[in-house]
Amino acid sequence: MKSSQFKIRARQAVGDADLRSKIKKATGISLLKREQVVSEIADWEDLRRRAHELRKETVDNIDSYLRRFIESARRNNAIVHEADDHKTANKIIYDIIRRVSAHTVVKSKSMITEELHLNTMLEENGIRVIETDLGEYIVQLAGETPSHITAPALHKSKEDIARLFHEKLNIPYSDDPVKLTAVARERLRDEFLKARVGITGVNFATADTGTLTIVENEANARLCTTLPEVHIAIMSIEKIIPSFDDLPLFLKLLPRSASGQRMTSYVTCINGPRSYHNPDGPRQLHIVILDGGRKQLAKHPAWKEALYCIRCGACMNICPIYQSVGGHAYGSVYPGPIGSVITPTLFNMKDAQDLPFASSLCGACTDICPVKIDLHHHLLFERREIVNRGYKSSVEKIGMVLWRWIMLSPGRLEFAGRVGWFFRKLLGKNMPAPGWTPHRQFPRIPLRSFRSIMRSDKKHGK
Ligand code: SF4
Repeated sequence: MKSSQFKIRARQAVGDADLRSKIKKATGISLLKREQVVSEIADWEDLRRRAHELRKETVDNIDSYLRRFIESARRNNAIVHEADDHKTANKIIYDIIRRVSAHTVVKSKSMITEELHLNTMLEENGIRVIETDLGEYIVQLAGETPSHITAPALHKSKEDIARLFHEKLNIPYSDDPVKLTAVARERLRDEFLKARVGITGVNFATADTGTLTIVENEANARLCTTLPEVHIAIMSIEKIIPSFDDLPLFLKLLPRSASGQRMTSYVTCINGPRSYHNPDGPRQLHIVILDGGRKQLAKHPAWKEALYCIRCGACMNICPIYQSVGGHAYGSVYPGPIGSVITPTLFNMKDAQDLPFASSLCGACTDICPVKIDLHHHLLFERREIVNRGYKSSVEKIGMVLWRWIMLSPGRLEFAGRVGWFFRKLLGKNMPAPGWTPHRQFPRIPLRSFRSIMRSDKKHGK
């Protein structure tokens, strides 16, 4: 899927009433639960401010915190690999898997591995990848990609999942969520026991202690990090936070914003592989740290804010555009408002030029963001950048210049109103306006403008 086809896919999604109702229902429940647990915290705004400052501090000094994290992790006997780009990261991961002659890997949900297209690369090289998060397991069975960063199968109803399991797993049809979950659990348990390599993402990596923290609800990530003999943790550089003491702050913000929970069912803190004094866990812990253009982004005075994101998904849940078109329409690993900010700046601005325009600029995303990223203003700045780079059509550019010229003069505005009124009268509701009238009627233009009514009232002393 490509972001360049956003308009086509968005049009299809908007026409799919069933899809829209599933997305609205799922995001609505998340928002309601979030509202309840956030209202319990009196100093929520202070927490957001503090988190924003900490993210700023980390991103502004990313090289130094990265070095500190790597030193700490190596002290903990983790094997740390740095990858400048996606290709290098994939090669590192593949080489680790090949060295231990593994043919199957179990994997927990990780947006970075989606960014790397890791599953495709491994499968092309003969390695079976088993997604173990229930939502990811569902989208993998369906041959799809996640449509949300925290709820990958948000676009599917329980009936869709029942049909999928019936077809792909050859079980009798049942849309009972408890039965469906039990089937997935039973199938996955065997895979956990057989796999020699477990792959996970990372939610937070603390620079002072080298600790990796993973938050989840199903314990599948914990099984990926403990049962196989090799654990590969994949993270991008912005997952680093300065100190282990900062972790409670982010653990207060993330689950509340993501799933409306006070705390997720499992929070796993990993300090290293098994050792003489700590005999549980994997024999080897590999940490693969991806830059993928982020160090460059961290230098940009405005866009660096995109790296403050803690991937809670709340901005997607609240966004009226996301609610209408869903995640797949964006054609990016990261959908919704943060996806529309990250995709053009981190990946390809030309391909993703429509994404910053997929916003009403209502600011709901900025208001809900737990780390106070000024999302809607970033979307606005990116629109300007896209126009400055010449990616918009000349017709649109001429139209905007003309619009500005009219709006800067009351006389011209009044004249334009009269011209509009004349054509509306002449053509009626068939008056064409590209991009607007194929879906809606042109609005009726009043005979008299507000300005002329005011003038006449003033003249008659009203
Ligand atoms: S931008 Fe903010 S609200 Fe959106 S996913 Fe990131 S942290 Fe959450």
